[in-house]
Amino acid sequence: MTTLPGRALLLICLSLLAWPAGAGWLREQQDIMGTRITVEVFHADDDVARRGVDAVMAEMRRLDAAMSPFREDSELSRVNREAAAGPVPISRELFDLLQRSRQVSDLTDGAFDITFASAGFLYDYRRHVHPDARTLKQAAARIDYHNLALDPATHSVRFSLPGVKIDLGGIAKGHAVDRSIALLRAMGIHDALVTAGGDSRVIGRRWGRPWRIGVRDPRRPDALVAVIPLEDVAVSTSGDYERFFEEDGVRYHHIIDPTSGDSARGLRSVTIIGPDATTTDALSTSVFVLGRERGLALVDRLTGIDAILVDGQGRLHYSSGLEQLQPH
Ligand code: AMP
Ligand code: MG
Repeated sequence: MTTLPGRALLLICLSLLAWPAGAGWLREQQDIMGTRITVEVFHADDDVARRGVDAVMAEMRRLDAAMSPFREDSELSRVNREAAAGPVPISRELFDLLQRSRQVSDLTDGAFDITFASAGFLYDYRRHVHPDARTLKQAAARIDYHNLALDPATHSVRFSLPGVKIDLGGIAKGHAVDRSIALLRAMGIHDALVTAGGDSRVIGRRWGRPWRIGVRDPRRPDALVAVIPLEDVAVSTSGDYERFFEEDGVRYHHIIDPTSGDSARGLRSVTIIGPDATTTDALSTSVFVLGRERGLALVDRLTGIDAILVDGQGRLHYSSGLEQLQPH
C-alpha cells in the first residue's frame, strides 16, 4: 500500500476532441452481487464494445458465485463452515484477496476486519433485526483478523476459534471492478467505466472528456454533494444510508466497528479516490470506521489516495490533496 502511484488525477482537462455521437458507445445496467452494476464502454467496433460489456457482467456473476456469503455453495460459505475445524484449501484468487484484506487491516489498525462477520451475521437490516447487548458482546469477542491463519504454501485458510466468520462485502466489489477493467483492457477497450454499487473505476475518457463521478448526498437520494472529473482512477463511497434501519433514534447500518460489533457512528459517508478499486473499496469502509480525524490522518499519510467525508452534521471534509475542490 505504500508503493501506490502518484496522486489521484483531479485536474479538469477540457478537450475539444469529440466522438461521433453513438458510434461504439454502449451502456448497460444489471443487478448482480446484490447491487447495481453499470458498465459503459467505448470502442470503434460495436462488436468489441458488446463483447466487453458481456464479459464484465459474466465476471460479476462468477465472483458473486465464489464470494457471496448468501450462497451456501460459494467458496466463501465453505470456508465459513469448515475453517474452524482445520485448514481449508482455497483458490488462488480468494487467497490473494484474504491476504490483501489482512494488509488493509494492518494498515488501518484493524478498522478494516473481514472477521467483523463473526458479529455482523446477527444483524438483518431488511428485517430490522439487531442482537441484544449480551449476544453482541460474546460475538464481538471473536472479531479479530489475527484469528485467520493463512498458509501461502498450501493456499489454505484456518480459523483459530469456533464462531469466527468472514465476509468480503467491504472489498469484493472493488476487486470485481478491477478484474472487469483488466478484462476490458485485454480486449483492446481503453475508454470505460465500471461501477458496482458504490465502487467505480474509469479508464480513458468519455466523449473525449474526463469521466465525472458524483458523490451522493447521504440524506437526499437524488442530490449530489460533489462532482469530480476523473481519469484512470477508482472511486468508492461507503455510506450509512445504503443498508440501515432506525430504532429509538439509533441508526443501525452495515458498516461495523470491529471493536464493538456495533455500527460505526460519526460519519455519514466516505468517498475515497485512488489508483484501483480494491484499494478504494477497502479504504472507504476503513475510513468510515476510523472517523474523521483518524481517517483523514491515514489518507494524508498514503500516497495516491484522497478522500471526501460527510460528517454527522452534513459538513464536508477533504483530504489535503483535494483542497482545490473546497468552496472558498
Ligand atoms: P462498503 O459499502 O464498501 O463500505 O462495504 C460495506 C460492507 O463491508 C458491509 O456490508 C459488510 O459486508 C462489510 N463490512 C462492514 N464492516 C466492515 C469492517 N469493519 N471491515 C471490513 N468489512 C466490513
Ligand atoms: Mg468499501
